[in-house]
Amino acid sequence: MRQSRLVCVLLVLLFLGGCAAKTEGPRSVTYYTYFDTVCTIYSYAGESQQKFDANAAAVAALLERFHQELDIYHEYEGIQNLCTVNRAAGGAPVKISQELTDFLLYAKALYNKTGEKTNVMLGAVLTLWHSCREAALADPEQAALPTQTALEEAFLHTGIDLLEIDAENSTVRITDPKASLDVGAVGKGYAAEQAARLLSQRGCTGYVLDIGGNLRMVGAKPDGETWVTGIRDPNGDGYAATVRLSDTACVTSGAYERFFTVDGKRYHHIIDPDTLYPAEGFSSVTVITPDSALADALSTALFCMRIEEGQALAAALGNVEVMWITADGTIQTTPGLSGQWCPGS
Ligand code: AMP
Ligand code: MG
Repeated sequence: MRQSRLVCVLLVLLFLGGCAAKTEGPRSVTYYTYFDTVCTIYSYAGESQQKFDANAAAVAALLERFHQELDIYHEYEGIQNLCTVNRAAGGAPVKISQELTDFLLYAKALYNKTGEKTNVMLGAVLTLWHSCREAALADPEQAALPTQTALEEAFLHTGIDLLEIDAENSTVRITDPKASLDVGAVGKGYAAEQAARLLSQRGCTGYVLDIGGNLRMVGAKPDGETWVTGIRDPNGDGYAATVRLSDTACVTSGAYERFFTVDGKRYHHIIDPDTLYPAEGFSSVTVITPDSALADALSTALFCMRIEEGQALAAALGNVEVMWITADGTIQTTPGLSGQWCPGS
């Protein structure tokens, strides 16, 4: 399901590459080993294969580091990652890398920035939903929801201040043994942003990073053209809309991405911290803003808010455009995106 969405996005980009007949490219390389998803690096820069390979290798090395550091399910030899941090909850501080410290400082600050909707310390609640989803997918006949009692008990262990970060010494500690980190709402977007900055430092423009559907455009195409980006129709095949973008990020949170069904009702993976249930109201929320990490965090947060609250948050942050698609296919946008998109097919 998730992969078919990615393929759709890729097709648009490749098609456009085909249209840009006068410039060479795009060159591209796809990795299947990072973040449990498909990551593709496209270059429209018209550079040599050798130069592209060197740039792609630098990005791949960065993605591999983040893949390992942000993994909450596995530990890796030689590093202390978020799995280590979760396992040590309630115990002593864990020494982590500077890079992971910077990520956690950013992730913790998102709580206030997103109106307390994107909470990376929601792990205790998300684990309950995750387990039910895994069990339901393994045996749909036995599909069941987490109990209200279990959800409410878990919620007691989700305070953002249970995460203590010592920036000076690069250590981190979760003070409650029942609390845990889940960075699924922001990890890929953050890694995409770091990769884009790395490419910029290397003098690259005309690149597109697709990190599991988190799109980050680095500069514009060499001919100055924008990229036409497809926003998937969450209620069907194809695209609900296309937008022309350059030098920005475009991230969608979708109810169709990961879900399970109980008694004919679908339960997806974006959990509203106020209800402890999958957020209702939208099929997808897409955020367009230059910083891919913020785009990722906001797409999750806005999914959990009423549209008026989301409009207010986007306006307060500035330079944030949003497209909301409801279950009946109605599209609403921030004022800045109004008239800037085309219906898809
Ligand atoms: P995204 O697809 O970016 O919206 O991220 C969804 C993922 O983020 C889920 O699979 C969970 O791992 C996690 N998540 C879900 N709801 C929340 C929330 N309210 N705050 C923080 N993380 C969340
Ligand atoms: Mg997100």
